[in-house]
Amino acid sequence: MKVLSGKAAFKGVAIGKVKEFGGKQVEVNRTSVTDVEAEISRFEAAKETASDQLGKLYEKAVAEVGEENAAIFEVHQMMLEDEDYLDGIKGMIRDEQVNAEYAVSVTGQNFSEIFASMDDDYMRERAADVKDISARVVRILAGVEEGGAVMEEPSILVAEDLAPSETLQLDRSKVLAFVTRKGSTNSHTAILARTMNIPALVMVSEAENVDGLMGIVDGKEGKLIIEPDEETLKSYQEKLEAQRKEQELLNALKGRPSVTKDGRKINLYANIGGVEDAEAALANDAEGIGLFRSEFLYLQSNDYPTEEEQFEAYRAVAEKMGGRRVIIRTLDIGADKQIDYFELDREENPALGYRAVRICLNKKEVFRTQLRALCRASAYGRIAIMVPMIISVWEVLTVKEILENIKKELREEGKEVGEIEFGIMIETPASVIIADELAKEVDFFSIGTNDLTQYTLAIDRQNAKLDMFYNAHHPAILRMIRMVVDAAHEAGIWAGICGELGADTTLTEEFVNMGVDELSVSPAMVLPVRHKVVNM
Ligand code: PEP
Ligand code: MG
Repeated sequence: MKVLSGKAAFKGVAIGKVKEFGGKQVEVNRTSVTDVEAEISRFEAAKETASDQLGKLYEKAVAEVGEENAAIFEVHQMMLEDEDYLDGIKGMIRDEQVNAEYAVSVTGQNFSEIFASMDDDYMRERAADVKDISARVVRILAGVEEGGAVMEEPSILVAEDLAPSETLQLDRSKVLAFVTRKGSTNSHTAILARTMNIPALVMVSEAENVDGLMGIVDGKEGKLIIEPDEETLKSYQEKLEAQRKEQELLNALKGRPSVTKDGRKINLYANIGGVEDAEAALANDAEGIGLFRSEFLYLQSNDYPTEEEQFEAYRAVAEKMGGRRVIIRTLDIGADKQIDYFELDREENPALGYRAVRICLNKKEVFRTQLRALCRASAYGRIAIMVPMIISVWEVLTVKEILENIKKELREEGKEVGEIEFGIMIETPASVIIADELAKEVDFFSIGTNDLTQYTLAIDRQNAKLDMFYNAHHPAILRMIRMVVDAAHEAGIWAGICGELGADTTLTEEFVNMGVDELSVSPAMVLPVRHKVVNM
């Protein structure tokens, strides 16, 4: 038995035979051509066929995995039209008098290496895409049919890397899991695996010479186990069976309201970190987005994201969620979330330092840019704005004033602004104690139990040494949640929980009994929590 480690890209267990996936590689030889113009025309025709194939793949993908995941094929079509790429290929055929297969293959390889060496994660991921489109054109030139590994039986697919188009063309009934030696958890393939609900591992660099062997994928621990011993196999078979039963039960809950037997309704929302996660929220039947951690947009960028970039992201989520509520949290950086271009000073106590709304109220232009983007996006869906790390009423009033000025300014510019609910996060003990006063100023509260626990128990959430003192169910926290809900209801507003505690199904009943109106959890936890609610 061999245990190989990698990174989990999507949860779940799979057991089966391992199949090495090489794609359909065409051996490319360099040959000389005499009629270079005829060779260039042959290339042009193959490029057109490739573009047609991609157009069809796009339509298939839209139907199967949604427009956003399908967009990669549009990107491929655009890359096929890239002037530099085309000039590279044609120039090579002309200058070196070589066959089109060779020119496409070498140019594709060169471009892929350039992309792979870039600093930007997004651009690095394009390396696999340019290889993918070049391989497609080569296949067409060589007259080879499409298709990857032929799998007679459902298998665990192991590959160096998987191109999105290869992933989508696989016979899904035959894929138990994806394992790649390279790849990243943010690659389109990993995103597709999540959308397709298939366990996936990336960066399992030692998964060599495993074709045909028995394997287990543990998508929770990020492990590929090769030729498991009997005991390991048995324990994973039990896990798999439990997983199957659980999923069946949970799927039956899709489309059902989250209502207790005696008729109490809970709004069951999802926490997301980016536009692409909205897909998972919908796939798991979330009734809205309870926390969009907008700082991920800033963390993924090398400079302040522009108003336009943010507007596009917020609008995309709002539109995707249809009329459902989408609560977007304003920038929450500082402490453990550091961003170079903000040039924040080193601090003695960063968790108690310059972070979240404290930064926003100092860097007003940065804050204004985000609020303008949010207000503009509100014309395209049901957007709510939520501010983190509040300790005082004056902070709320100041943010509200800035927000009102921005709405006015946008309307004067002739831009539409929709109805926007305004809420705050309750994640400091101070905000719990003055919740009655804060409640008069806002439309809702969302309790951030991660920080509320850290500040109440005086336990740094990053410090693993304090685990033995950390009690997520500490009575102080549970009493505080009750106090916040009571203060909210007293003022006629609603209160939810968006910290990790909201997904703790051992507490669901207690939360509902306290009168918590909303729980916002990771997409995969929506149905397990609904299961609790409908059975109480
Ligand atoms: C929280 O503190 O509970 C919360 C939801 O915010 P974050 O985990 O992003 O700090
Ligand atoms: Mg927090």
